[in-house]
Amino acid sequence: SLTLGIVGLPNVGKSTLFNALTRNDVLAANYPFATIEPNVGVVPLPDARLGTLAEIFSSEKIIPASVSFVDIAGIVKGASEGAGLGNKFLANIRESDAICQVVRVFDDPDVVHVDGRIDAASDIETIATELVLADLQTLEKAIPRLEKEARTQKDRKPVLDAANAAVAILNEGRTLFQAKADTELLRELTLLTTKPFLYVFNADEAVLTDDARRTELTELVAPAQAVFLDAKVEAELLELDDSSAAELLESIGQDEPGLAQLARAGFSTLGLQTYLTAGPKESRAWTIPQGATAPQAAGVIHTDFERGFIKAEIVSFDDLVAAGSMNAAKSAGKVRMEGKDYVMHDGDVVEFRFNV
Ligand code: GDP
Repeated sequence: SLTLGIVGLPNVGKSTLFNALTRNDVLAANYPFATIEPNVGVVPLPDARLGTLAEIFSSEKIIPASVSFVDIAGIVKGASEGAGLGNKFLANIRESDAICQVVRVFDDPDVVHVDGRIDAASDIETIATELVLADLQTLEKAIPRLEKEARTQKDRKPVLDAANAAVAILNEGRTLFQAKADTELLRELTLLTTKPFLYVFNADEAVLTDDARRTELTELVAPAQAVFLDAKVEAELLELDDSSAAELLESIGQDEPGLAQLARAGFSTLGLQTYLTAGPKESRAWTIPQGATAPQAAGVIHTDFERGFIKAEIVSFDDLVAAGSMNAAKSAGKVRMEGKDYVMHDGDVVEFRFNV
């Protein structure tokens, strides 16, 4: 499954956040026989719709979708030159599908900052620069080979052009994701900065309640998404019962846990969406890429479902809830039959018809 790699400078709160993520792990609860890697946190994608479906269908259990975060040890300046553990970091990042940078914006004189001061823009640039340099190295190695290939193979010329265009962007100090560069042709090089980025600002109450500051930081990282949370509070929340947790959140001006926001932002950063199934056994969210068709969605449940796909019986969650039951939704004409070209929508409640 797709993963987000957690990166960041030392002492920004990565371990604190990752510990909270793993303690909130869904894998252990739903898949008792799965192997759980120590550096992977699989967190549930909160979805209140599942509770509603479980009531309508009297489901025995609820299975949410999940998002996987991989803990990649702190990146350091000079990583692109292979300094220290640099090469290992870069290899780990290469294996991730998106990059999640934790940025410190909390104030605490007891926690030392590597550069001696708190400066979010500079921390973001430090990491981006290492990744940009690593990509430049990859491209500079590849370009002479691509030039040679382009001389004899017509179809390699566009790849060479894309590589040169990427170098121009990177030389400006921009990531390829930031520049929204078209890097489809450069897939074979597994560049780092083409991956989608997500920023987690590890904040304190002062920042969490300062709308202007949050807007400023959100704009700083656009088009990447920004999530604001207090990693220390997130860890504490998991120890509390619901009402104490709600009180603690309210005291720092939040209406839901930061981990919930992080799960949602991570999920969409990976380009994923869900559809829903419901029955007496379970109400469940299934993960598909944005833009997936009905047969592809069926294939996530079982590969045979994709092969034998006939049609999908679909009702939107809102229509289903308004009708009160599947039968009532059917009588109201709200249940549609969709064929193999149908592109799935978020909130589709589905039953597939297939040949086996
Ligand atoms: P890492 O090096 O990025 O993994 O950072 P750690 O998670 O080990 O955190 C470094 C120090 O900062 C530890 O002493 C944490 O307790 C502290 N810390 C982490 N998050 C927060 C936070 O949100 N607020 C405050 N005040 N301290 C934090």
